[in-house]
Amino acid sequence: MDLYSGHINKLIDELSGLPGIGSKSAQRLAFHLINMPKDKVDRLVKTILEAKENVRYCRECFTLTDSEVCPVCANAKRDHSTIMVVENTRDLAAYEKTGKYEGVYHVLHGAISPMLGIGPGDIKLKELVARLEKDVSEVIIATNSSLEGETTAMYISKLIKPTGIRVTRIASGVPVGGDLEYIDEVTLLRALEGRTEL
Ligand code: ZN
Repeated sequence: MDLYSGHINKLIDELSGLPGIGSKSAQRLAFHLINMPKDKVDRLVKTILEAKENVRYCRECFTLTDSEVCPVCANAKRDHSTIMVVENTRDLAAYEKTGKYEGVYHVLHGAISPMLGIGPGDIKLKELVARLEKDVSEVIIATNSSLEGETTAMYISKLIKPTGIRVTRIASGVPVGGDLEYIDEVTLLRALEGRTEL
């Protein structure tokens, strides 16, 4: 890639390290950024830095939020004894968009994947177990229907079963390997309502 200046090459390099950005997209983005007015670039950089500095994990559910406790956990009207376990904050947002789920969440930030070397200690599982000491009546496992999601669901179910707390799994019908965030609200609600005991 010696066709471009060193600075552009460096920018392309950084951008192509982002998820879903191949080398062609990285080149397109790099030239777009170079051609953008300086004040717009400044604003973009400032927004990224501010997000990075101010977004943190919710103390309760570990979703990403601006405050110590996220709006769902801070809401006394929600049913704090029902915990839905999701893989990431985007899955939480997908369920919140339905407006029909009354419980709270627990965000794992990943799924167990022996192939990628991601073990139980690499996701927020300890934190989930710690929450079970409080008054919890049901844990709904809403991890994806991918191999990793199913492995994680099985692991969590084995972990919780001995406590006597009800463990359920959202119904399949959610397309295999389909990320929850891409599934429409009706399908999500049907998966939630059709959940089965594990
Ligand atoms: Zn929270």
